[in-house]
Amino acid sequence: MSADDPELREQMLAAVRRLDALGLNRGSTGNLSLRASGGGLWITPTGMSPEELGAGDMVRLGDDGQVQQGAWAPSTEWPFHRAIYIRRPELRAVVHLHSPHATALACLRRGLPAFHYMVAVAGGDSVPCTPYHLFGTEALSQAVGAAFADRQACLMANHGLVAAGATLGQALKVALEIEALCGIYLQALAVGEPALLSTEQMAEVIERFKSYGKARRAPPAGHQG
Ligand SMILES: [Zn+2]
Repeated sequence: MSADDPELREQMLAAVRRLDALGLNRGSTGNLSLRASGGGLWITPTGMSPEELGAGDMVRLGDDGQVQQGAWAPSTEWPFHRAIYIRRPELRAVVHLHSPHATALACLRRGLPAFHYMVAVAGGDSVPCTPYHLFGTEALSQAVGAAFADRQACLMANHGLVAAGATLGQALKVALEIEALCGIYLQALAVGEPALLSTEQMAEVIERFKSYGKARRAPPAGHQG
């Protein structure tokens, strides 16, 4: 792959358009990034709507946060993207949304407890909600970095959702699942207090997810689908 990463930037554009079509990226509130080959990251530019965005508009930042390529300013929220890549070397894609259900829960300053087994998609028995900090600040980056120590998603108080993955497809999958779970959790809370799964029950799910992932990556010989 060339250092210019044209394929990665096309993937990013496709993801922005998909999130927009799903109604999860109102205006230009969301942003996403991928690790660049050879260091640094590619991130969507600030203040550009999905309709006007092209693959050539993505901005490359060095490990120091300086713009290395691109005509536009990077998303103002780039610092927490970088914080995740520093904290978790195996994660290569970060998706950030102000999607309605996750944001509603984040405005209650509540994360997701183990109310449904799919909460384990984020790597543990809960999805935390970080304390409120101003967007683009070092304080917010530190809070998100800490939340990602052992998770692949978190909510940010009075702000929105962040999800990450080893690929952009995986980061999107986690983001969409958490957004859906937040909607279900809010609906359940409207009626009562949902029953929670135990630590042991969630540990079973996490273990099952690990073996499911392995089977998908290396299907047995003769396996057709
Ligand atoms: Zn935001």
